Amino acid sequence: MAVGVQQAIVVGAGVSGLTSALCLAEAGWSVRVWTAAMPQQTTSAVAGAVWGPSAIEPVAKTLAWTERSLHEFRNLAKDPDTGVRLAPALSVAESPADGGMPPGVELIPDLRPADAADLPEGFRVGFRATMPMIDMPQYLDYLTKRLAAAGSEIELHPVRSLAEAADAAPMVINCTGLGARELAGDDTMRPRFGQHVVLTNPGLEQLFIELANPSEWTCYFPHPQRVVCGGISIPDRWDTTPDPEVTDRILQDCRRIEPRLTEAAVIETITGLRPDRPSVRVAAEQLGRARCIHNYGHGGDGVTLSWGCAREVARIANGDQ
Ligand SMILES: Cc1cc2nc3c(=O)[nH]c(=O)nc-3n(C[C@H](O)[C@H](O)[C@H](O)COP(=O)(O)OP(=O)(O)OC[C@H]3O[C@@H](n4cnc5c(N)ncnc54)[C@H](O)[C@@H]3O)c2cc1C
Repeated sequence: MAVGVQQAIVVGAGVSGLTSALCLAEAGWSVRVWTAAMPQQTTSAVAGAVWGPSAIEPVAKTLAWTERSLHEFRNLAKDPDTGVRLAPALSVAESPADGGMPPGVELIPDLRPADAADLPEGFRVGFRATMPMIDMPQYLDYLTKRLAAAGSEIELHPVRSLAEAADAAPMVINCTGLGARELAGDDTMRPRFGQHVVLTNPGLEQLFIELANPSEWTCYFPHPQRVVCGGISIPDRWDTTPDPEVTDRILQDCRRIEPRLTEAAVIETITGLRPDRPSVRVAAEQLGRARCIHNYGHGGDGVTLSWGCAREVARIANGDQ
């Protein structure tokens, strides 16, 4: 590492780690990324993924981070090589939500009611919008390349403690997702199991999300080469073995909504554990002589929050107000 340049180690190479590393490296820091799993083997690679606001704690901050990420994803969508695209979206519900619209909906670009005639059978409410949709394997490759161009490499280097990283650099960024349960001694971290069935794309452009049911719903995200179909969420399940019954249910529901998926071939079934926490943790603490900035606990919203949280990490690291 060059003398005089501020040095940091980012632990974790999912979307939080790569984006945090990038924000620091592009701000002139000398950054190394240490990880137990390379980007394509992380939970981040499993995500659908769509940008979208949700009211997770701390709500005022997460909405500001969501807005920040929207700005970044809109710019990234100008270059198809990033894997980010601004996609037409249809979200539907069986009935109007109790208590009106959730916080943050005003951030969603082009949000408007859908014509009742366009809704699939069984749904009485629908919205159209334009939403950033992120093809995660391609996007993680893009971030990796951009990080390399900024002078940072990703090293396969699992750590037993954050102190191990603190021995090697005066600034440690903890982006270990569920790994923070052990590394930060944070037993509020819990897994939330998810499963996707990935199909070939028969020519779909519009993403589809069923709102309302927090444990099982229907969604599909059509990327150029594949359609990612879901969804399911099982709290406290650590086992990542795909469930064949869930696969069948996802296929049946998605094909009912979009009959063109009946002709699409199944490529693979993928699973991941959302790194849940009662509130997202982006905060600094002293770690011996080093400083540690935590950036974990994003649950089902880590892609949405990634740029906002990473910019916050860089702001704290740079001591900016
Ligand atoms: C099915 C599914 C669908 C989802 N859909 C969406 C979506 O549409 N939109 C959205 O915003 N989010 C979505 N999410 C959530 C999103 O995927 C996560 O919030 C996000 O990936 C978390 O990223 P992360 O980088 O914090 O953690 P991870 O991707 O889990 O990365 C953690 C990193 O830390 C490393 N690590 C852990 N322990 C150690 C250690 N001891 N030493 C070194 N390295 C370590 C790991 O190897 C890994 O590299 C979805 C998740 C799932 C499972």
